[in-house]
Amino acid sequence: MKAPSFAYAKPRSLDEVFALAEKHGEDAKLLAGGQTLLATLNMRLSSPALLIDITGVPGLAGIAVQGNVVRIGALTTHRAIERSPEIASHLPLLAQAAPHIAHVAIRNAGTLGGSLAHGDPAAEWPACCVALDATIVVAAKSGERRVKAREFYRGLFETALGAGEVITAVEFPVPGAGYRNAFLELARRHGDYAIVGVAALAKAAGGTLSDARLAFVGAGPTPILARSAMAAIEGKKLGADAIAAAQAALAKDLAPTGDLNGSPATKLHLARVLCGRALTLLAS
Ligand SMILES: Cc1cc2nc3c(=O)[nH]c(=O)nc-3n(C[C@H](O)[C@H](O)[C@H](O)COP(=O)(O)OP(=O)(O)OC[C@H]3O[C@@H](n4cnc5c(N)ncnc54)[C@H](O)[C@@H]3O)c2cc1C
Repeated sequence: MKAPSFAYAKPRSLDEVFALAEKHGEDAKLLAGGQTLLATLNMRLSSPALLIDITGVPGLAGIAVQGNVVRIGALTTHRAIERSPEIASHLPLLAQAAPHIAHVAIRNAGTLGGSLAHGDPAAEWPACCVALDATIVVAAKSGERRVKAREFYRGLFETALGAGEVITAVEFPVPGAGYRNAFLELARRHGDYAIVGVAALAKAAGGTLSDARLAFVGAGPTPILARSAMAAIEGKKLGADAIAAAQAALAKDLAPTGDLNGSPATKLHLARVLCGRALTLLAS
């Protein structure tokens, strides 16, 4: 199918974006990499009268290390994150997750901000942001605000973004020395959206994990921080008992829905398998 007809604007500043967004309200949609939006137009799932292409706005792309924080602009592509030496050394979890996002052609165009705004619970970046306790920077005509990734997701494809708001950047605190990372996911084919996945990191010392963060992909309506499982292993020497306790606790944390890929029980089982593998990697 082809997209319905729409008007197109390519503003050169955020102020112009805000003015267009205010004038056209719900009839307008922001366009970044287009890797989700254009597909939904082609499938006639959405029919905005105006696309506001934000790729001409300066200052929204790039990766900057600012002390203990890495700031990634919203228009930074998945591929740029995947290939960045700064990301590899400061936020290796993102470097591990990026190759799981679709295929290279899509990663060359798709952006961090677009993925976070779309809010697909099966997407990799939202879970990584939750695991890393990132802050999402949002701008509007009224000014700028910062929202913790852990508070950004409200429901299925539902975020804290208000009318006329634009994600401009994401700020990631750099985990200190001694943290280890693991990003694991199961998909039918490489490049497909995850059936279930986990973004994991923890401080590892002598086989004991502390400050463990386990954020699950595809295990509920939003990315889910598995607080019960995290509590089950906090400060414990990681052995079969601790892993089994974390896996059992996932029943309290996760709320997978059944679909063509499996029943809720199957997905919970897969999440437990990934949890065990991730914890083993973190502690080894
Ligand atoms: C075949 C295929 C497979 C894919 N597989 C995966 C996958 O495995 N994992 C995965 O995570 N993704 C996958 N994707 C989606 C891809 O990652 C997209 O790039 C991403 O979801 C959206 O980013 P975008 O820049 O393309 O956004 P767009 O498509 O341009 O926009 C998406 C939505 O976000 C809004 N938006 C965009 N930027 C902003 C902003 N800065 N502020 C506020 N709102 C904004 C738009 O208005 C729109 O509603 C796949 C896509 C395709 C076509």
